Amino acid sequence: MMLLIQNIDVYAPQHLGRKDVLTINDKIVRIAEPGTIPLITFLADATVIDGTGAVLTPGFIDCHVHVLGGGGEGGFANRTPEATVENLVKYGVTTVVGCLGTDGIGRDMCALVAKTKGLREQGISAYCYTGSYQIPVHTLTDSITKDIMMIEEIIGTGEIAVSDHRSSQPTFEEFARVAADTRLGGVLSGKAGIINIHMGDGPRCLDLVNRVLEETEIPASQFLPTHINRNEKLFREAIQYALKGGAVDFTGNEDIDYWETICDEVRVCYGMQRMLEAGVAPDRMTISSDGQGSLPIYSKDGEFLGMGVGQSSCLLKEIKECVFKTHIPFAVALAAITANPANILQLKGKGKIEEGYDADLCILDTSLNILKVIAKGKSVH
Ligand code: ZN
Repeated sequence: MMLLIQNIDVYAPQHLGRKDVLTINDKIVRIAEPGTIPLITFLADATVIDGTGAVLTPGFIDCHVHVLGGGGEGGFANRTPEATVENLVKYGVTTVVGCLGTDGIGRDMCALVAKTKGLREQGISAYCYTGSYQIPVHTLTDSITKDIMMIEEIIGTGEIAVSDHRSSQPTFEEFARVAADTRLGGVLSGKAGIINIHMGDGPRCLDLVNRVLEETEIPASQFLPTHINRNEKLFREAIQYALKGGAVDFTGNEDIDYWETICDEVRVCYGMQRMLEAGVAPDRMTISSDGQGSLPIYSKDGEFLGMGVGQSSCLLKEIKECVFKTHIPFAVALAAITANPANILQLKGKGKIEEGYDADLCILDTSLNILKVIAKGKSVH
């Protein structure tokens, strides 16, 4: 299985300019000047794509998706559907990190790991977190550390809810213990051992995480708080947290105007711009979709209108806003859904166009619309 993409403008995510890119089976094997990879005999069977006028990026990583569906708040009828491969690759996502959410009973770790394995069998790359909102964490084996060490798909714990009326209101000691167990699992297995934290709307914001950094030996690199743009107060704290070296995950939105005007969220493009202006390192920021999570929709007067569902489509939408609205360089914005999550979550071979890396690629037009998606060297969309 060979694929030669010729004369394409490569963002790796850093801008490499026009290149030819050769993949063999599931790996990128050669990146060279246009016209310098000859179609000699052994490449005779290669599929050749003329990339003239198009842009090549790494496949996107959506690092927070409720792959089993989410919701169930307000009753069983509100449970949202599972993620499908078609709906991920359609929007350029070739790597997904799955999590449970509010409900860790109706959906459990057996089902989450099974779904993660299923997504892999269907051709994309998939990982998951152990646990749900709750502490104590309901694991697959009998411990967080063992889950991370012994279950290949599990890369950390989450999403643990803090500052939220739906959280288990963990004490500092309980929260620190979860962080310690997760870190140990990561250390022993060579994985990131990340604690993915659901940030709620509550006024305590990042208090628990900041206390762990001040009072224990656990470093900021162990945490990835998500939904950090959900309100202004939390977002301001998140800037300070990121300036200390912490990574932060923005939640993208499909209907960006609605969430900014009705729900007081910090628009991702403005948030990213503010982080950069404050001096946050660009590689500390990620964007995820909260895919398949339930999104209650209200009118301006606060009337409940219905339940929406998060979608990975928001990733590219937010990147376009960053580029076209706030003029953040494409390479910087793109890194938030490629190289940054790959580095922070230590997803080996992911998130970059580099020789030896996995052949997960998106071909876009110059307006940044998806033309083609390749996962592990195979055309999937
Ligand atoms: Zn959440």
